[in-house]
Amino acid sequence: MIITIDGPAGSGKSTTARAVATRLSYVYLDTGAMYRAVALAFVEADADPTADAASRVLDDLRVDVFYTGDTMGVRLNGRDVTDQIRTQAVGTMASQISTLQAVREKMVAEQRRLGTHHVETHGGVVLDGRDTGTVVFPEADVKIFMDADPWERARRRKKEQEAEGRSVSLEAVHKEIVARDAQDRTRDIAPLRKAEDAVVLDTTARTIEEQVDFVVAQVEDARRPDANGT
Ligand code: C5P
Repeated sequence: MIITIDGPAGSGKSTTARAVATRLSYVYLDTGAMYRAVALAFVEADADPTADAASRVLDDLRVDVFYTGDTMGVRLNGRDVTDQIRTQAVGTMASQISTLQAVREKMVAEQRRLGTHHVETHGGVVLDGRDTGTVVFPEADVKIFMDADPWERARRRKKEQEAEGRSVSLEAVHKEIVARDAQDRTRDIAPLRKAEDAVVLDTTARTIEEQVDFVVAQVEDARRPDANGT
């Protein structure tokens, strides 16, 4: 069972995807964290987000994911960077380097490999990102497109950042989110968009629990023997 959850920043994808995976005993794969790890490599190499720089940075770059209980972590060339990738600077760089073809090819291949592996070992995977239902697994069993009002998304991001000890203004977070969305929606390769067969979930006025229930209900529908006409 492959479940994809795509949508803009702060729409609640990660929290929902993680909880759905836990509830179904599937594995959660945060594809954004993988782009963030690549972005951190660019930041640390002081490289511009260009195709030229990408060929150098990607050359000896390895991104691995690991799990501590239900929580996914990420390593960059063997170093745990799970916390370091959560800054606004890395988020902005992630949005820039994820427009580069070489970066996307490498990440998509790795995400397909990991997703297929998780299905084999755990029976299912829940991916969240921007293109997981359109590009990574267009044949996914359940596709969700999550969205929410930009100010509400900014409030959630601010809360998350504060919980991690970073103090940010709501206006700054809102500006960053709107800029990142515009970049993600208008890029040439794998832009953020709803897959035709994805179900829209507007989370503006929903609790996490309601979101999780909604996705799990979609999975239960897809699991019914007659769901695919079989
Ligand atoms: O989801 P998160 O905010 O961590 O993603 C960081 C950035 O990585 C996004 O703004 C987007 O540009 C990029 N990304 C992507 N494709 C994905 C997941 C993330 O391009 N599947």
